[in-house]
Amino acid sequence: MEGNAAPVHIVFSSLEKGADVDNKQKIIPSCGAYCYAFTSKTEPTMNRQRNSLAVAVLLVFGLSLATAQQKAKHVPTPSEFLGFEVGADRKLADYRQIASYLKAVAAASPRVEIEVLGKTTLGEEMIMAVISNEDNLRNKAKYKDIARKLADPRGMSQAQVDALVAEGKTIFLLTCNIHSTEIGSSQMAMEWAYKLATTQDEETMRRLSTSIVLLVPSLNPDGQIMVTEWYRKYVGTKYEGGPMPYLYHHYVGHDNNRDWYMLTQVETKNINRMVYHEWFPQFWLDEHQMGTNGPRIYIPPNSDPVAQLVNPLVHRGNNLMGADMGWRLEEAGKSGVIYGYSFDAYWPGGTRNTGWWKNMYGVLTEVASARIATPIEISHTELQGGVKGLITYEQQINFPNPWPGGVWRLRDIMDYELIVSDAALETVSKYRPELLRGVALMAKQAVESADAREFWRIPVSDQRDPIAATNLAALMTEHGVEVRQSADKSAFLIACAQPYGRFVDEMMGIQRYPEVHPAPGSGILEPYDVAAWSLPLMMGVKAEKVRLAAGDDLASTVMKDAPWPSGGLADKTFKYHFAGARGNNVFALVNAMQKEGGQVFAAKLGPVHAPVFVFGAHPQLEANARKLHVQLQSTAALPEGTTQLKPLRIGLYKSYIPAIDEGWTRFVLEQYGFNVKNIENKAVKAGNLNEAFDVIILPDSSREVIVEGRQGREGYSEELPPEYTGGIGKEGVRALKDFVEKGGTLITLARASEVAMGEEFNLPVRNALAGATERGRGVQTADFNIPGSLLRVYVDANHPVGYGMPQEIPAFFDGPIAFQTSAPATDVQRSVIAWYPDSARDILISGYAHGAERLERKAAVVSFTKGKGKIVMFGFRVQHRAQTEGTFQMLFNAIYW
Ligand SMILES: [Zn+2]
Repeated sequence: MEGNAAPVHIVFSSLEKGADVDNKQKIIPSCGAYCYAFTSKTEPTMNRQRNSLAVAVLLVFGLSLATAQQKAKHVPTPSEFLGFEVGADRKLADYRQIASYLKAVAAASPRVEIEVLGKTTLGEEMIMAVISNEDNLRNKAKYKDIARKLADPRGMSQAQVDALVAEGKTIFLLTCNIHSTEIGSSQMAMEWAYKLATTQDEETMRRLSTSIVLLVPSLNPDGQIMVTEWYRKYVGTKYEGGPMPYLYHHYVGHDNNRDWYMLTQVETKNINRMVYHEWFPQFWLDEHQMGTNGPRIYIPPNSDPVAQLVNPLVHRGNNLMGADMGWRLEEAGKSGVIYGYSFDAYWPGGTRNTGWWKNMYGVLTEVASARIATPIEISHTELQGGVKGLITYEQQINFPNPWPGGVWRLRDIMDYELIVSDAALETVSKYRPELLRGVALMAKQAVESADAREFWRIPVSDQRDPIAATNLAALMTEHGVEVRQSADKSAFLIACAQPYGRFVDEMMGIQRYPEVHPAPGSGILEPYDVAAWSLPLMMGVKAEKVRLAAGDDLASTVMKDAPWPSGGLADKTFKYHFAGARGNNVFALVNAMQKEGGQVFAAKLGPVHAPVFVFGAHPQLEANARKLHVQLQSTAALPEGTTQLKPLRIGLYKSYIPAIDEGWTRFVLEQYGFNVKNIENKAVKAGNLNEAFDVIILPDSSREVIVEGRQGREGYSEELPPEYTGGIGKEGVRALKDFVEKGGTLITLARASEVAMGEEFNLPVRNALAGATERGRGVQTADFNIPGSLLRVYVDANHPVGYGMPQEIPAFFDGPIAFQTSAPATDVQRSVIAWYPDSARDILISGYAHGAERLERKAAVVSFTKGKGKIVMFGFRVQHRAQTEGTFQMLFNAIYW
């Protein structure tokens, strides 16, 4: 499902605050573990031979010659190829089988080619099937070029645009299975590819003559394999179809669909490159699944609210597709179709949404889930609304034919998906000229509606962390945005008047959430996910919108590769080299040099006692400093009062109810070279933690999850196999306290702070927001709701956790945690390291804040020393989704404190 607001309770594919319930991973498939099923067991011999023959043909003639003449005529059906009935109850093809099948289709059919998009996090090949008629595939370079030109029609006359529209084909991207438990579309992709490859139906052939389909069978191959493995392992047991005790992506689980503006994960990057640098599809359909107890399928239009900067033509195109999907579903007798439900037209974080600001049509479908591949029976009394667009489960105009309840199975999911995939292709084919002309028109309007002299200006060096500024410029380039460098190279300049100019404004500016009331006197429609994505604020980068004098930009040049700040040693003959403890990469250098066995010291230098890291001379120091863009000063002697740092062993707690923040924390720490290992319940309970760790981090997760291994909410929750049950227990909490007293550092992120605020630790702090209703569902009822916004926070930069930070920062806040401390007895020292303003009206910087007055004068980051150790509690999201680069340093500081 897309996210938090999805309708009903389903255990294995979460509805609530993703962090707790979403599946995720821990079993990392070893290479070879999967080299099984389809070649050795399930694939019938005949098909294997046929496949080998096709492969042999390819080897002999080379891929480029494998056109119609060489390709075998028989395209196997998915079931024939895999040796089991695809879509049958309790049967799943894993990603490797799916990829093998699509390759076999490509080998046999002149209408299908395979493109490799790159590798996944765990090293799988990420593939895409390109499907069209033979002619179009032969000329695909030309059609890519036309799509690229229509996406950026600057300098073209209307006649030239019209000529390209007349000649072009719709490039239609269909992506499946980004959320791995939403497994149906990965299976459906094989059936749909087979149909398109083999049909002689005149109408389908016509569609393929006007369109090129880009079919991505899974946006998360690693997770698809994990889910399939888990399902197969427990099929036939009481855990069949139940939740996994780990995230379904090596790092980010369900949040892989929260990554589309920050582009941190390799899978996101692979698709982003294909979309915005190679193929320029005009239309993107992303197929998901949602909960089990509501409508059977969500189709466009989206629900409110609407993003101000998205060209309305995007929604018009999306709604055409939605109308056709609804028509074709009803025609086929499929009930339970809803639109205008749950999924808004405001949030830019998911797959195709980001494209809206780049003049791309993009829609989402969500089909009700089964229990993975196990059928589920829903009584009519269990059907529920309760979500924006369907408050009670009953007939209404956006839901004219409610599903009556009954059995729901994988086959149903795939059948609904096959219909909407066909309808989507029908739409992009039927409206080909309009859609293509629309893309060019929107690009033109983006350019013409902006002030040609307005630019976002990012100074290169006048930054707290110049590397972050370059990161931002590079990120915008990766998005396909044109980034320029000023003639004197002192700034990056991003024109507002460019085809992706509205994306630029959305990402560089601040957000003000639109308060839409669905009925008189009602609360407002709640944000779907987070409400702020202001990249400069999140990354801690200074940027301002400026109006240049006419011609000022003319001397600027479009940036191809980001000009990173130069790094290195001032004088390599010296024995010591140092840099201020400011900026994230200096920590990466500290970690890299410790890994190399180099000496690293902490010191305070100069009249202001600025904290610095001092590096002993080492053969790898210069290369690492250069690679990390860190410029070091050189000195002959070690400054007074230095402390040698030892390599730190970091334990990152991992619960069996997967916490996405665990994955993000691991990702961020690994990116910066920290030595981090997961620590699970058993190891925490066993105690003696100081033997293995210097620092333990509890990622954002509720106390119930960590201590008891259960969700805080009441009611039924499905059991995991016994080895995955329970939490750290009271003895685990005592072991953490013991760890601190013996000299360890415990860092708690957001909600996990409640573990250290419990009676066991007996600290003079409580959650000032305890009891706040976190968020309502759909229509806001909560008394406090800050669902992911940037808030103003003041920092004590003299505290070791605040070193290198400005006195005022934008901090990302997404849950009701803030600290009320009090003066302790003499055996405990407490520090308030960061705090919120005195007045609520100063608190919100970007996003949405309801009830902000409850944060007035509350602490945002606090620390305690107890025994020989320390506890640091972060209330805001210091490394949220690897996006808040501007506050990473506080986490790094806390680790090295
Ligand atoms: Zn989803």
